[in-house]
Amino acid sequence: MLWIPDRLLVATFNPGKLREFQDYLARFPVRVTGLDELSHAPPSPEDGETFEQNARQKAVHYSRLCDAWTLADDSGLVVDALGGEPGVFSARYVRPLASDERRCREVLARLESVSRPNRTARFVCCLALARQGAVEQVFEGTVEGEIAFESRGTNGFGYDPIFLLPKLSRTMAELSAAEKLGVSHRGEALRKLSEYFLQADAR
Ligand code: IMP
Repeated sequence: MLWIPDRLLVATFNPGKLREFQDYLARFPVRVTGLDELSHAPPSPEDGETFEQNARQKAVHYSRLCDAWTLADDSGLVVDALGGEPGVFSARYVRPLASDERRCREVLARLESVSRPNRTARFVCCLALARQGAVEQVFEGTVEGEIAFESRGTNGFGYDPIFLLPKLSRTMAELSAAEKLGVSHRGEALRKLSEYFLQADAR
């Protein structure tokens, strides 16, 4: 049996992220909206040391501001040769308003003297599902890969053009939206969320 709310607020202003949620959840009878309707609300604190802490903070904050189930995503790129950077600072790397392209160039520059096999990296996604200030469940996904030597591809967002999937010999930005959701950290976390919705006794 399926339990699913009829409306889900995805706590993000990032249109790339929101589209991935809408694409994936299109199979369910749920209306998925982003934070645009809460654009005048005070921003959530986001000062955790882990993706999970930040996802929980955002889920609690925004679910208190609206009467809907709220799903917060905190995600980012973890590069081993950079000691885990940009990590939880992925969206603010270089400086808060830098472009995705500028951030990708920065990672490539910092890895200029690093050769394979030391260019390993992963994307991590942590989703926190909350209602009225209480987190109900957390779902996590990761995808392993490498930092490419140059940007390739125009799909996706963020660090997708420099994230190489060695088995596919393609960057994440060279995959279609459906292909990305099939292999990505967010796709894995969303599959766990779907299983949760599909449990008869979820609520
Ligand atoms: P957040 O909104 O603080 O979770 O920021 C996440 C940041 O991590 C994004 O702005 C991107 O820079 C990066 N990121 C997260 N997920 C992805 C992805 O699927 N592809 C590329 N970059 C991502």
